[in-house]
Amino acid sequence: MKKVLILEDESSIRSFVVINLKRSGYEPVEAETGEQALEELKKNPDIRVALLDVMLPDIDGFEVCRRIRASGSKIGIIMLTAKSQEMDKVTGLMTGADDYVTKPFSPAELTARIDALYRRTGGSEQDEAANGELVSGPFKLNTRNRTLEKNGERIRLTQIEYSIMKLFMDNAGKALSREDILNEVWGRNYFGELKIVDVNIRRLRIKIEDDPTIPSYITTVWGYGYKWGF
Ligand code: CA
Repeated sequence: MKKVLILEDESSIRSFVVINLKRSGYEPVEAETGEQALEELKKNPDIRVALLDVMLPDIDGFEVCRRIRASGSKIGIIMLTAKSQEMDKVTGLMTGADDYVTKPFSPAELTARIDALYRRTGGSEQDEAANGELVSGPFKLNTRNRTLEKNGERIRLTQIEYSIMKLFMDNAGKALSREDILNEVWGRNYFGELKIVDVNIRRLRIKIEDDPTIPSYITTVWGYGYKWGF
């Protein structure tokens, strides 16, 4: 489950956010005070994104944000600010927040921001830890059994091919250089040639592409490497 912390002292706003996040497939973890929020974060290390209201009765949202960052946490943080606190966004970003949303906000706006931040903070890796599956288009990679399915059908992969698929799916949409792929899959101590990457990609394409001569899943980034994306 994609856990999101919601720190908001006003229960009406909190439940409004909770209902909308549940509808969008998130699992909200609620906190009424800053102290509670910090406790929930400790109890739920799988929380990837936190929504922090600025105006709170005890420690304010900025201070909570500062403490989260001071603990070394890299979770995504969105500050909830009122219109009259427009200046707060500067303070918020300086204390380590990633984004801010001004009240009143629409549910669509809020979930769009959370979705974006969730993706940026490696949400897919967390999903994977939770249910052992990485899903991308017609592909489902099971990281427990190290198996791949396309449209529900098993595709047999070598261990190297599996590792390449995992790397691609963890970095969907990002161009990976051939050196990156070599280092990640074969390890930094591998002194073979870069060509081994191309050879394996060619084989992988034959297994997974609809038409390996016109690859649409593993695309070539000319003069650089490859990219997972469609
Ligand atoms: Ca408040």
